[in-house]
Amino acid sequence: MPEMSPSSAYIHIPFCVKKCAYCDFLSFPSCLERAGEYVEALCKEIRLTPSWFSSARAADAKTECKSGGSDSSQARGDGGCALRTIYFGGGTPSLLSAAQIEKVIGALREEFGITEGCEITLEVNPGTVNEEKLSSFFAAGVNRLSIGVQSLDDKVLKELSRIHDSSSAKKVISEAKAAGFINISCDMMLGIPGQTLESVKETLDYLLFQEIPHISLYSLILEEGTPLYDRYGGDIEKFVTQEEDRKMYHYVTSRLKKNGFIHYEISNMAREGYESRHNSMYWKAEPYYAFGVGAHYYIGNERGRHVEDLDTYIASLSREEVDRKDVLFPEETLSEEEKKKEYMMLGFRTRIGVVEDIYERRFGEKVERSFEEELQKEISAGLVVHEDGVYRLTEKGVDLANQVFIDYI
Ligand code: SF4
Repeated sequence: MPEMSPSSAYIHIPFCVKKCAYCDFLSFPSCLERAGEYVEALCKEIRLTPSWFSSARAADAKTECKSGGSDSSQARGDGGCALRTIYFGGGTPSLLSAAQIEKVIGALREEFGITEGCEITLEVNPGTVNEEKLSSFFAAGVNRLSIGVQSLDDKVLKELSRIHDSSSAKKVISEAKAAGFINISCDMMLGIPGQTLESVKETLDYLLFQEIPHISLYSLILEEGTPLYDRYGGDIEKFVTQEEDRKMYHYVTSRLKKNGFIHYEISNMAREGYESRHNSMYWKAEPYYAFGVGAHYYIGNERGRHVEDLDTYIASLSREEVDRKDVLFPEETLSEEEKKKEYMMLGFRTRIGVVEDIYERRFGEKVERSFEEELQKEISAGLVVHEDGVYRLTEKGVDLANQVFIDYI
């Protein structure tokens, strides 16, 4: 099978104003003074990556780029693909200046090329931007915002220790629109102690009123080592039952469906044309570049991660001769079997599901040949349905998705 060359890039910006009570992401509060050096390090890594992965870029014509459709990519003369999606995640990328974001985009353009219409997403935290800054991000080339609203209930936001209240979240939505952004996503969190269905309804009312075209839904997960975990002793069921959490999820998904949204992935709903192209790339198990501390990459057959220590990352990349081993840690080279399993697990997350023809084209054998036993078991349990050449989760399967995913681990 031809190897796919990455046409997406993830950039991790690890700075935050302060740590939220539930967060175990790699982010550092109060290190923003290092942002300038960090951006320099990112740009250097971007420039070095082609030489670090020269075999995966396959100038030997083994690579293929996505072609056709609105998210097509173009092959470059050297065998790689121009970027069709770029995603600044964090952390809080909106703490960087527009000039710093522009610098990173410039380095990506120079090194890999950027397709016309490339989706460039920036995660934004309310309380870190104003209309002027958002306009500068827009002018720098950012064309999609993912806003960490979480809730418009001040009690809930306080429980999560978010840095913003509901009025600053509402303000950032208006400012984003005024700055020219149309492609806006808002995050909503569910299953938070103290959160009621009424509070979820009010948040959703406002997002619908503002005609936000994309909403991501997350249920609170208590991660060990976080203040919320300590507060609730890891036993969230005492405060929010699974049933209450599911009730909120069903309320939001059915209301959004009635309002014309497509439930295109378990945790994501969008109006047609506003599906996240970058995240869809992950769910199609396609390769991608990643830059910055702690970021995970998938290039060629290699999956790996970056060093997590900010000082080490910056120091390693400021050396004249940079040793790849100081920055990247390859973790696994996926076998064909592992790739098939991963493809199934990711495919089942999406509304499209696992399409027999696409699977066969990609892996050279029928999906039933690879996973007959698993598929039959899931169909008998009412978790998966098979129709028109596609396997996808049933409604019951969406609620019990982990029971399906476990078959492909
Ligand atoms: S803003 Fe996001 S990354 Fe930063 S601490 Fe809060 S949840 Fe974590």
